[in-house]
Amino acid sequence: MSMSQTESLDLDALWALRQHVMESGRLLTIELDDRGLIRDANMAFRSRFAGFDRVSGESPWRFLRIDEEARDLLANLPPRTPVALMLRETEDGEAYCFHAYRIAGGTLLIGEIASGVENEIVERMGHLAIQMSRLVRDLHKANHALAQANGLNEKLARSDSLTGLANRRYFMERLDTEVRHVRSRRRKLALLMIDLDHFKRVNDQFGHAGGDAVLVAVADLLRSQVRAADLPARLGGEELVAYLLETGLSAACEVAERIRLGIAELRPIAPDYRVTASIGVAELRDEDDPESLLKRADDLLYQAKTGGRDRVVAASPERAPARAELATQRLSGNHRRDPYGRV
Ligand code: GH3
Ligand code: MG
Ligand code: MG
Repeated sequence: MSMSQTESLDLDALWALRQHVMESGRLLTIELDDRGLIRDANMAFRSRFAGFDRVSGESPWRFLRIDEEARDLLANLPPRTPVALMLRETEDGEAYCFHAYRIAGGTLLIGEIASGVENEIVERMGHLAIQMSRLVRDLHKANHALAQANGLNEKLARSDSLTGLANRRYFMERLDTEVRHVRSRRRKLALLMIDLDHFKRVNDQFGHAGGDAVLVAVADLLRSQVRAADLPARLGGEELVAYLLETGLSAACEVAERIRLGIAELRPIAPDYRVTASIGVAELRDEDDPESLLKRADDLLYQAKTGGRDRVVAASPERAPARAELATQRLSGNHRRDPYGRV
């Protein structure tokens, strides 16, 4: 019975059908609960197998033989796909051809005595069903493994291999989406552009591997300072970036300042070697697209560099200078004399 046919049957018709099946002298029906125990069985089943004994709560396998695989299959019946099973009386009596249906809260088994031919066919069908369920299971497993491998590949394709941060391409993709979202919903988004100060010197003094170690440590710090919905990324070289969702300029400046101080506290290559970074902070404006936002953050970063490095510079709102910028300059004052060398 197809799904649409079932749905077009009214409840009275279903009731009549059930009644007929339950009272039929030929058809055996067994309703199993979700533990696989008999919830109900019709007269034909009870009189054949149980006499006056109670059957509800009993295992059907007290009366019929089933092998492990078929039992497994029964426990995992797909919805609306009956499975044919060949079952035999436990005392080596008759063979029955049953169809198992998954129903709400359990399983319905409907069976008849099998003729010789049926016997063979159904036996084969039973084997095929078992084989098929095994194949389906293997297929599920293979699909799962494939999905995991795909996920891993995707992750690799969008991340920077040194730091594990998002790479430029992925960052730009996501920024594009977020900018559109944020603008259409009149929400906030801020962007931090971070560049390590005098990074060439790190490489000169500690070699490329030393430089790499610094990049990894700074990337980890950056990741730890932003929220899960924000996206930190490595744009290239020693230039990192992050967008912060639902974040206005002053909150973004606080985050940037925490990051700046955190970087200055790292000692990624030597206990007495301090690394510093300059950070530009821009907030998305109505007229912005991703490029103009990045450009503004980059200009501010440049200002941070020319202003002495190891600092956060934010776009001043049209009226007054950003409070955070002033605060940052105060905070960074004690680093200014020798911002990137030995402490
Ligand atoms: P500034 O404060 O002006 O930013 O000075 P800087 O030395 O950081 O300036 P610049 O951007 O000119 O130099 C960046 C250097 O970063 C150049 C390159 O040697 C180094 N670099 C870029 N990518 C990597 C990398 O993946 N690993 C390492 N170890 N070094 C890198
Ligand atoms: Mg640099
Ligand atoms: Mg640079």
